[in-house]
Amino acid sequence: MARRFAGGRLVIASHNPGKVREIRDLLAPFGIAVSGAAELGLSEPDETGDTFRANAELKARAAAQAAALPALADDSGLVVPALGGRPGIYSARWAGPTKDFAVAMAEVERALAALGPGADRRAEFVAVLSLAWPDGHVESFEGRVAGRLEWPPTGDKGFGYDPMFLPAGYELTFGEMEPAEKHAISHRARAFKQLVAACFG
Ligand code: IMP
Repeated sequence: MARRFAGGRLVIASHNPGKVREIRDLLAPFGIAVSGAAELGLSEPDETGDTFRANAELKARAAAQAAALPALADDSGLVVPALGGRPGIYSARWAGPTKDFAVAMAEVERALAALGPGADRRAEFVAVLSLAWPDGHVESFEGRVAGRLEWPPTGDKGFGYDPMFLPAGYELTFGEMEPAEKHAISHRARAFKQLVAACFG
């Protein structure tokens, strides 16, 4: 049995305003009061883990201990099996210091092209959500969505690698989909559903 969230305030262990807003929206129906890590003046730990789960857990634990409140963190990325799982946990870093995802997508395409015309273009988005308590206890939930990588990228509705990701069974990339449609099937939504059922339901 997962430990349940007993109410009160929850810290979102992220300094990314987009992520804080998305998680705040997802939590709104549960009447949970949330604070972002930046609002509380918490520092950002180095993501030294070698899995999504390790990084989500270390971010959640650091924030829970620093704030003395339960904290929720997410770690996510694009996994391309033909590239040995890259960019994986380095998905954000492939965009470079200017966070330019046109650069990151071109880098993925270059690596696939180097494998030749028959390259396996399947890919997955993966998200792990971790909820940690100040005593160090942590519960983690993973969501995935399978698809394939298209070139050139299309659509300007999403973020990150969305314009080149065509989810399996759909004809629009995540970049072309309306946010509500993406959020119904996304890796993050799938992880979130499990978190809610186990800890907030
Ligand atoms: P994190 O902040 O270390 O978890 O970095 C996650 C990175 O993975 C983001 O910067 C994006 O590049 C990529 N990513 C994660 N989820 C998505 C998504 O839903 N669409 C597009 N890119 C994503």
